[in-house]
Amino acid sequence: MDTPRGKLTRRRFIRETVAGTVAVAGTPAMLAGLARTAQTGTARLPWYRRAYLWGQTNITEKDPVRYDIDWWRGYWKRTEVQGVIINAGGIVAYYPSTFPLHHRAEFLGDRDLFGELTKAAHADGIFVMARMDSNRTAEDFFKAHPDWFARDLDGQPYRAADKYVACINSAYYDEYLPGVLREIIERSRPDGFTDNSWAGLGRESICYCDNCTRKFQAKSGRPLPRKADWNDQAYRDWIMWSYARRIEVWELNNRTTRAAGGPDCIWSGMNSGSVTAQARSFRDLKEIGARADIMMLDHQRRDDDTGFQQNGDTGKRVHSLLGWDKLAPESMAMYQSGPGYYRVASKPAAEARMWMIAGIAGGIQPWWHHVGAYHEDRRMYRSAEPVMRWWKANEQYLVNRTPIANVGIVWSQRNTDFFGRDGSAEVVDAPYTGFMHALVRARIPYLPIHADDIERAAAALKVLIFPNVGALSDSQVAAIRGFVQRGGSLLATGATGLYNEWGDPRPDFALADLFGCHRAGDAAPRATGGRGGGTDPIGAFAPSPSGHTYLRLLPELRAQIDGPRSGEEPAIAGPRHDVLRGFEETDLLPFGGSLTPLKVDAKALVPLTFVPPFPTYPPETSWMRQPTSDIPGLVLSEHGRSRVAYMPADVDRRYAREHLPDHARLIANIVRWVARGTVPLSVEGIGLVDCHLYEQPGRTILHVVNLTSEATWRAPVDELIRVGPFKVTMPVPARVTKPRARLLVSGSAPAVAVAGGTASFEIASILDHEVVVLE
Ligand SMILES: [Zn+2]
Repeated sequence: MDTPRGKLTRRRFIRETVAGTVAVAGTPAMLAGLARTAQTGTARLPWYRRAYLWGQTNITEKDPVRYDIDWWRGYWKRTEVQGVIINAGGIVAYYPSTFPLHHRAEFLGDRDLFGELTKAAHADGIFVMARMDSNRTAEDFFKAHPDWFARDLDGQPYRAADKYVACINSAYYDEYLPGVLREIIERSRPDGFTDNSWAGLGRESICYCDNCTRKFQAKSGRPLPRKADWNDQAYRDWIMWSYARRIEVWELNNRTTRAAGGPDCIWSGMNSGSVTAQARSFRDLKEIGARADIMMLDHQRRDDDTGFQQNGDTGKRVHSLLGWDKLAPESMAMYQSGPGYYRVASKPAAEARMWMIAGIAGGIQPWWHHVGAYHEDRRMYRSAEPVMRWWKANEQYLVNRTPIANVGIVWSQRNTDFFGRDGSAEVVDAPYTGFMHALVRARIPYLPIHADDIERAAAALKVLIFPNVGALSDSQVAAIRGFVQRGGSLLATGATGLYNEWGDPRPDFALADLFGCHRAGDAAPRATGGRGGGTDPIGAFAPSPSGHTYLRLLPELRAQIDGPRSGEEPAIAGPRHDVLRGFEETDLLPFGGSLTPLKVDAKALVPLTFVPPFPTYPPETSWMRQPTSDIPGLVLSEHGRSRVAYMPADVDRRYAREHLPDHARLIANIVRWVARGTVPLSVEGIGLVDCHLYEQPGRTILHVVNLTSEATWRAPVDELIRVGPFKVTMPVPARVTKPRARLLVSGSAPAVAVAGGTASFEIASILDHEVVVLE
């Protein structure tokens, strides 16, 4: 829609004019788009590469009789939005659709609310993504097309409340929805489309409709699996087939919208920031990232396990797949969305603000989200405005930047599926989260790295972290070996590489030689079967019966343990390894997990060993029955320039669960040891802050988010707590000799001292966040 008018071909001009309302709705948008293009000098970029600030009023069925469009236009303007998401069709139509079963909003009457809003937005120079919500219908639709709906094993339709769930393999997706998309384009010419729940039934429900039965048999040569069983090849094939179908739908929708609306009329379905949530709905984040022109994230809030920092992590994860030149706006609830769920009550302003800021720091573009067009709690209209106005003023430093980090945390959705199985929150997400929290706490910048991208990402990285990444394919293992051969270092925990890409156990760690240890003898992998998915052959991931276990700190020279010394008091002497720095006053660390023996190579060091469980209660019984063991908790080795730390102990997951500072310190120490002192950032000062380092031509940028608050670990935060001062050392931008620092929030310009390619300065204080531009 923002093609310069003079360049419209005659044919396209006629086509758009013939399309009726198009010329009227499109022209102001074109002109406004041109005006903005002239200002920002981004003429050649399509709209989805320069719509940074977003808003969405999620329209309820009641809204057609109370939607005050003029008021909302004022709100768009106050919040500087450049793109809006407007409900069009799907479960509920907000325009008079000619499809008789396309259910019109109860209070729509003959109104074309979608069309009116699209016209208003275009007149204001704002891009429109038509929002679909297309996966279920009312009963009349089901009765007219019973073969388009998902069925359980007994042939009964899958229901969601009073609605019927459409089958992703049916003509509902192949024919009906494309028809609706074309109708919306022809009527109102939105700039693109998004969809709230485009991926159909989730993993929890196998569809046995005729379409699925026939198509799965044709594709895999087997009948559909009767139940979820991760060890059954039919179930595995069904998982992969289900993923592939979502990509087909993604591509079909894009072909449809581009054919009807022009090459920039894209379709981009919404995605979650949680890999486990993506896995449960067959949305392959990597494959989608390779196809999406803009990533529309539906990720409204933090949870208590992951904190605000999770939004920065999501931004980095998504951009590592999309590239840093594309945009990733994220729907952010302005209503209270957890704990508790109150659609028409304002989220505490500080909570809404910090979620927005944490996302921005990771490369996410803010998108306010209200449910309903009329609110009696008017405080929610005040939360987004200051953040978005600040963004607008500082936009050039917040996009088109690339991260500076030499530590990567490896993940893959395949690992979430086939290693995590039904327990991925505990087996996959928690270890990752533990590292995320520990690195944030230590102010060590990192990037999430997909396991298939190791070779591509390796050049910039010194360290790869594998948080219990059980499932690794042979090619991923080969890429890791290549990384180490080129001098890269590893930190791996738990069952990393102990399984193949299907989650089937390997006889030994795929990287055993690099880890400096092997699975011990006859500890055969436990067959799990069924849905349990407790893949746990070395016992590293089952809490001990009491959970009352410890790790013993050993002197460095004791490279190998001679054997168990039950009943003896330990006599530990001699200097300790660097990874145990800061623990001089203790010989024990709390652990809480369980470990089993490993065979350790002669050259490897074991600075931590397992202390088996003993009672906690009654207190009279709480003494160590076995103060020492030969079971390693950490194995360190060096291979040429590479350092490898393998930690069987699930300290990462324990940190995510228990937040014990000892665990965070241990993790940070190990990361710094494998990185050989190359971490590019140092931030000294009191407080929990999340640091993101970037570069642009001629400048380096540091975004510091203050996570210190009266609700640091538990939403919602009401009061922010100012922290500082911080002494910062960060890289001087390339080809800059005397850099100056500017702070984009406080507005101050601290003095900079330069030494050896790094710049040092002080940030006096930070309330919510600060952005340092060094140029
Ligand atoms: Zn089906």
